[in-house]
Amino acid sequence: MPGLEGGTRKSTAKSRQLVGCLPYQRPLAHQLKKLRRLNKELARRSKGGKKWLKTKDKLGRLHYEIACIRLDWLHKLTTQIAKTSGIVAVEDLHVKGLMRNRCLSRSFSDASVGKLLDVLENKVPRQGGMLLKVDRFFPSSQLCHCCGARKVDLELIDRVFVCPDPDCGYIGDRDENAALNLIVEALRMFGLNVNMPSSRVATARRKTAWGPGVRPK
Ligand SMILES: [Zn+2]
Repeated sequence: MPGLEGGTRKSTAKSRQLVGCLPYQRPLAHQLKKLRRLNKELARRSKGGKKWLKTKDKLGRLHYEIACIRLDWLHKLTTQIAKTSGIVAVEDLHVKGLMRNRCLSRSFSDASVGKLLDVLENKVPRQGGMLLKVDRFFPSSQLCHCCGARKVDLELIDRVFVCPDPDCGYIGDRDENAALNLIVEALRMFGLNVNMPSSRVATARRKTAWGPGVRPK
């Protein structure tokens, strides 16, 4: 079963294989240059003029193109996940809250995370699977999936997770670690005690507190 972690970056092929990190695609990033150029062009034209109309038409077609690429990717990805996984663990992201964060809003709206979760919610049960949502306050990025130690000073820019517990010493891809945490947590919610790479998870997890009152920094 994959744990889906909405990383804002292309994950390595290896981690995607292991835990099903989203193969992140940003059609807008590729088309952004073109979009910017056309927007500037439109601003230069006299409004309502022949050339203005022409540029406006081009812009409209570019927006449509982007929407199509995005939707196509979304459906391919969700179908693949629904067909190949029995249980899918997702982070119940507060999409509207993320949109309000200006640093994150573009990459998140671009990856259509909200839409992706909606589609998964429909597709997974139709294929006989189950979608488990992990609470959005669960600090999936901050916990070490091996020992459960919490790294509270993890920044968005840190792409590698280094376990703060020297006895554990786990170092790994941030998205991969977060996805593994989601799997463990989803299975715990489901009432399964987990057969994860480390058997220390269940006991070590007690060291860490999380919940609506315990917000990540
Ligand atoms: Zn650790």
